[in-house]
Parts: sequence; C-alpha cells; structure tokens
Amino acid sequence: MYDYLIVGAGFAGSVAAERLAAGFGKRVLIVDKRPHIGGNAYDEYDDQGLLIHKYGPHIFHTNSKDVFDYLSRFTAWRPYQHRVLASVDGQLFPIPINLDTVNRLYGLSLTSFELEAWFASKAEAIPEPRTSEDVIVGKVGRELYEKFFRNYTRKQWALDPSELDAQVTARVPVRTNRDDRYFTDTYQVMPRQGYTRMFQRMLSHPNITIVLNTDYRDIQREVQYGEMIYTGPVDEYFDYRFGRLPYRSLEFRFETIRQPVYQPAAVINYPNEYPYTRVTEFKYLTGQEHGSTSLVYEYPQAEGDPYYPVPRPENAERYKHYEALAAVTPGVHFVGRLATYKYYNMDQVVAQSLSLCSKLTGKRRQELVE
Ligand code: FAD
Ligand code: UDP
Repeated sequence: MYDYLIVGAGFAGSVAAERLAAGFGKRVLIVDKRPHIGGNAYDEYDDQGLLIHKYGPHIFHTNSKDVFDYLSRFTAWRPYQHRVLASVDGQLFPIPINLDTVNRLYGLSLTSFELEAWFASKAEAIPEPRTSEDVIVGKVGRELYEKFFRNYTRKQWALDPSELDAQVTARVPVRTNRDDRYFTDTYQVMPRQGYTRMFQRMLSHPNITIVLNTDYRDIQREVQYGEMIYTGPVDEYFDYRFGRLPYRSLEFRFETIRQPVYQPAAVINYPNEYPYTRVTEFKYLTGQEHGSTSLVYEYPQAEGDPYYPVPRPENAERYKHYEALAAVTPGVHFVGRLATYKYYNMDQVVAQSLSLCSKLTGKRRQELVE
C-alpha cells in the first residue's frame, strides 16, 4: 500500500517523491515508462565515456535561492556560464543580440548608449506586443528579427513567430552592453557529477520504490495507493477528450569527434541554414576532459516524444478545458511541463512541484525545504 503513485520520474515527479518520502514519511511508488529516471534531464556516458544529455542540452539556471538550496542537498555544482553563437550571413555572432553583435554585423563602433538609439530607430512601434514577432520587431526592428529569429522559429515550431505567443522569443533578451551570456540568473551551475547522479540521490530513500519501463496504466489496477501525482501529458491522461494538445518534438543526432574541441562555443544556433536548429558540444557544459568530444544536433519534428508545449492562444484555450477537468478530478494532482502545458525550465518545475508538496502537506514552502 502506497500513499502516492507518482507518474514520471523527471524533476516534477522526483522532487515530489523526495519531499513526500523524506520530509513526511510517505510511501511512494514512482513509475516511468522510460528505462531511466531523470525525465528529459537524464544524462549518461556514451560509448567513448563522454557525458551526454540524451534529450538535448540542459543548463541549470535560476534566481530562486530556495530551489538552488534544495537541489544542493543532492549534488555539488560546477559553476558554468552558458554562451551561444548564431551563424548569420556566414559568420558567428553572439546571441542574445548585444553590442558586439550589432557592431560586427554592420561594421559599426557604437557605444551602448548609441546602440539604444540605434535600436529605437529600427524598432517598429508595437504598443502591446502579443506575438513572438511583435516582441522582437518591437525591440530591434525587422532586419535583425529576420536574420536571427524568424527562420529559427519557423524551423523549431513549424509556425511563423506571428503565430506564437510573445513568451517564446521573449526568452531570449536583447542587450545594449557586451554581456554575451545566454542567461543572467543569480545561480548558473551544472551538477558536478551530472543530472542522473543527482536524481539517484533524490530517489534513494527507503520509502521510495522506483519502477521503470512501465506505463502507469499497466500497473494502476494492481497497485494500492492513496493519491496520484501525474507528470505526463495532460491530454493523454484524459484520453484526448477535448482534442490533442500539440507538443513539439525533436530528433537528437549525436556525433563523436576524435579531437578535444570542435566548435568555438557550447552551442551554435543555425537560424537560416540546415534542417537542424542548433549544435551543442557537451564538454563545455560538463567540463569533462577527454581526447574526443561529443555533439548533438537538434532536428525539430511534429511526431515523437512530447518536448515542448506550443504557446499560442488556441492551445491555451484547449488547455483551459483540461485544466478545469484536472481541478475537479479527485485524488490526482497534475504537475510539470507536460501535465500543466507550460514552457517551463527545470527550476520552474522544481518550484511548481515544491508548491504542490506544500499544498499536500499543509506546510509553507519555506518550512518544506528547511
Ligand atoms: P519530464 O522531464 O518530461 O518528465 C516526465 C516523465 O513522465 C518522463 O520521463 C516520461 O517518460 C514520464 N511519463 C509520461 N507519461 C507516462 C506514463 N503514461 N507512464 C509512465 N511514465 C510516464 N530547462 C532548463 O532549465 N534548462 C535547459 O537548458 C533546458 N533545456 C532543454 C532542452 C530541451 C531539448 C528540452 C526538451 C527541454 C529543456 N529544458 C531545459 C526543460 C526541462 O527539460 C524541463 O523543464 C523539465 O525536464 C521538465 O520536467 P518534468 O518532470 O515536468 O517533465
Ligand atoms: N530563438 C530564435 N533564434 C535563436 C534563439 C532562439 O529565433 O537564435 C527563438 C526560437 O523561437 C526559440 C525561442 O527563441 O524556440 C526560445 O529559445 P531558447 O534558446 O530559450 O529555446 P530552448 O532552449 O527552450 O529550446
């Protein structure tokens, strides 16, 4: 007899399992249909002994001290500042667009102050930016939008930026200084021994039973449990009764090269060329020393594992129906990127799962992680 059946061993499920078991003595069964824990953050060593992220590059960054402190119980960290270059007009430029991007692309020598005026002269007046086109064109104008954003977005989502909510491209800021980091969060770190090791430590409590390679529907009837925490796709849980929620998928193609370093940055984005969006060289992220290096190419596709909810009004409308149904489904709690159909980073999912535990136990968030 378990207190909780948790579906999915990614961040959402694992954080809930750990807190309920270790913090509150609950007996937890956590089940995942994949052959491993960690969800999309899972990493493993490839045949050459290089640490790779099986579901694409995962860089941890957060402004939340709570989330950082909580995860620090299960891992030591390696400081890591992520940098990305974009291939545009045959050259590599810093992205997010910054002072160097503009100066090099146009052969200018503007100061930060002048760049502000330059952006203002290019930007289109959009009083209420609603779409992913609005948000960029409203900041830097149409030309930079077309060089850096339009085609990348069309490739990644199979939608024009004008068909996607502003939040998608708004993830990537625009800067007038020379800061070329992808993120500016307070905490930017990578788990020193990898994500999988961190998840192993989270789930190693005696009150937690892990079952892998198993769809929860195949065991649900044989298991006695109090309540369920569900972290899979919400539309699937309800047998698609309001129609399918679109999730964008990717194919990951890995490559190992027999040389220590391959490309000049952790990630190179290819907005305008090739069928893939970006190439990641894992050694930058992991800090691993090795004679060879491992890369992953990301090819966006419609079919396959659900990786990204697609933020646009009609999908939000459909999700609302599922959300309302989820809210009145007794004994089942929905949490995580797929179950709440939110384009969340890892830290946001950890925070969301801690909030759920807080609700389930009646403890304040602060008490929960103390
Ligand atoms: P998931 O990790 O998807 O876990 C859900 C689990 O549920 C899966 O393991 C699945 O197998 C299981 N499951 C589903 N249905 C069933 C079922 N019926 N029975 C049993 N098990 C089931 N975030 C960052 O912060 N930084 C990054 O750099 C970053 N990069 C990313 C890159 C890519 C390519 C992608 C796709 C995402 C990235 N993210 C990043 C986001 C991050 O992956 C998510 O925020 C986080 O992993 C979501 O955790 P989750 O537990 O909600 O979902
Ligand atoms: N984007 C873009 N060009 C870039 C980088 C990002 O057009 O060089 C857009 C694209 O729509 C992408 C979104 O901004 O899906 C968010 O980018 P991010 O790097 O945050 O994507 P993720 O890491 O979540 O895949």
